[in-house]
Amino acid sequence: MPIKKLRDKKKQIPKKYKEHKPKAKKKEAEGKDHGQGEKGKRAYNVLRGMHDILPREEKYWKPMFNNAMNLADHFQYGRIETPIMEEVGLFVRSLGKGTDVVEKEMYVFENDEIGRVCLRPEATASVARAFINGGMWNYPQPVKLWYWGPMFRHDRPQAGRYRQFFQVGYEILGAEDPAVDAELVLIAYNFYKDLGFPVEIRINSIGLPEERERYKAELANYYRAKKSYICEDCRKRLLKNPLRLLDCKADQCQPIKDEAPQIVDWLSDASKSYFMKVLEYLDELGVPYNLQPTLVRGLDYYTHTVFEVYPAVPSENPGEEKAQSALGGGGRYDLLVEEMGGRSTPAAGVALGIDRSVAVLKHYAEKNPLNLPKPVYDIFFAQLGDRAKGRALKMINDLRKSGMKIGFNLYKNSLKTQLELANDLKVPYALIIGQKEVQEGTIIIRDMESGIQEIVDQKKAENIVKKKLKKFDDGDK
Ligand code: AMP
Repeated sequence: MPIKKLRDKKKQIPKKYKEHKPKAKKKEAEGKDHGQGEKGKRAYNVLRGMHDILPREEKYWKPMFNNAMNLADHFQYGRIETPIMEEVGLFVRSLGKGTDVVEKEMYVFENDEIGRVCLRPEATASVARAFINGGMWNYPQPVKLWYWGPMFRHDRPQAGRYRQFFQVGYEILGAEDPAVDAELVLIAYNFYKDLGFPVEIRINSIGLPEERERYKAELANYYRAKKSYICEDCRKRLLKNPLRLLDCKADQCQPIKDEAPQIVDWLSDASKSYFMKVLEYLDELGVPYNLQPTLVRGLDYYTHTVFEVYPAVPSENPGEEKAQSALGGGGRYDLLVEEMGGRSTPAAGVALGIDRSVAVLKHYAEKNPLNLPKPVYDIFFAQLGDRAKGRALKMINDLRKSGMKIGFNLYKNSLKTQLELANDLKVPYALIIGQKEVQEGTIIIRDMESGIQEIVDQKKAENIVKKKLKKFDDGDK
């Protein structure tokens, strides 16, 4: 684009989209030099409640993802990716108006073209929408889906509570069977067991909406009689969403909560026997659980089974409230798809928070070193001179499908430094290429242990190296 046009375009950028500089702190911020960039330039910080996941964290994040994917493969879930932006109404209708997530925590944007949209605070509603939009009711039922991605909640940041965080989730749509509920609890349990740390499963049943309504009325009656003894928040909950009274952590409310009526007594025989079946399956699977009569999982879309996963090891921050340290949660949502405008489709799912899981994994790894596999390099590529650098990069690229793990640092010009790196990576062979080798179409293979070098044809190098490496596969190391 011609520069003049570009300049004109720049002029058109509405003021509100121009770079935001906090006014009060502008001077201070502009003077900051974080050792990067020029003096006088403002250094940007990651937004409050959000965090970068740096390469050094990879050793914790990678096993999470691999584990999630292996479980999905084994239990036959298909991967689904939904957009991070959705219509606001999708979450208002599914999660419910009176929930904290919808009332206070959504990042909402207004736009003439797309209307009121928000960053997704969770993915189950999106999966239900995609199930309908994608005509998945026509697939053989049930449809098993899994996702991995960032969620956004504009909450007050604190330990383990972020504004952008990752979740992995598993959903089963199109089957009403206690074995489905048990499978999802099993997946959550396995996810952590395979990572090497034990978790506690808390489980309850909240039955069907009509049973819950009767229970809510009873609970509200009970709390109304004790109104003068409960905390300010609970007084509000009593008016707005009595079920949330059971989430209260205030000391003054605990004795009242302990004596409160329990939802299980308001369940029909059919709901009770459904729940019993889920528990029987868990017994059969050897998944330990604790019945938690006050567990209701604040969202409107749940029916029957609800459960949460907690670390069984002390969490990163022992002072942290228990509700904040849940690693994951899930349950049955038989009415959601219909509520979203689809056909009646029984369903259930679980979502596990990865950021919190990583925190616990780190904490656990401090005491019990994890046997996380270290990458094993087969060869190291070293180069000397500009032309050799280009050829080395080309050869490294050509070897992508060779199955060999190749170490290199083409941006170091000293051969000595590069060979030291090769030593650090403990490779048995280094491939060295200089100007002379480029011209002659050859390459040097150096045995790192003996220091013996041989010159071979570049085209034959892959096969020769593979043959040499084979003796290590045969256990001759
Ligand atoms: P929920 O469905 O809200 O219970 O979320 C399921 C899991 O996602 C939780 O148990 C957490 O591990 C994780 N999670 C939820 N909200 C946050 C947050 N604000 N920051 C970090 N992780 C979260």
